[in-house]
Amino acid sequence: MVEGVKGIIFLGPPGAGKGTQAKKMANFLNYSFISTGDILREEVLKQTELGNLAKSYMEKGKLVPDEIMLRIIEKNLQDSKTGFILDGFPRTLPQAKGLDDILKKNNLVIEKVFYLNSSEKEIVKRLSSRRVCPECKKVYNLITDPPEKDEECDLCNVKLIKRADDEEDVIKTRLEVYKKDTEPLLKYYREKIIEIEGDASPEDVFEKIKSFLKEDDYYKKKN
Ligand SMILES: [Zn+2]
Repeated sequence: MVEGVKGIIFLGPPGAGKGTQAKKMANFLNYSFISTGDILREEVLKQTELGNLAKSYMEKGKLVPDEIMLRIIEKNLQDSKTGFILDGFPRTLPQAKGLDDILKKNNLVIEKVFYLNSSEKEIVKRLSSRRVCPECKKVYNLITDPPEKDEECDLCNVKLIKRADDEEDVIKTRLEVYKKDTEPLLKYYREKIIEIEGDASPEDVFEKIKSFLKEDDYYKKKN
């Protein structure tokens, strides 16, 4: 691992498109893309020690505790050579503080925090377009991140399903929870936050985000 490797965090309500943008940015900058959903799924599939531990909570329908999530993230961060993009983490203040300890220990720094904001109307529309694979649990979005074949998982070729928590009334409750959890994070990262309006098309949003990287060394080298 290179010392002082830099990272970018994406924050934003569910459905604001942060996963899509984070992935685009990781490809663009050649940074590691660290999505908590993906890395958790991978650890579970590979039956690593951490994966098995996480699975024991998931099987009981419980959230994987922060401490285990942080260990999984640390493991993945240690593999990032050029930089890293975090998608879906941290979600709460205790997670952000735990993440900071890991970053310090591994000589990593968060350089920017993009806060993707969206109107409630747009969020509801996008989230109710979300589908999940019943087999591998991979998440798709029929609008922003569709599978190759119509409503079928790219990996398992089974029909995607709509989760109960992607129904409209549940989405509204989720948004309230999100607001309560995330507001402290916006304060915590206030010096690094760049707010981006997320209602535009994914391409336009990405252009906007890129415009904030123009001062960065890596961007200059690449362009
Ligand atoms: Zn699948």
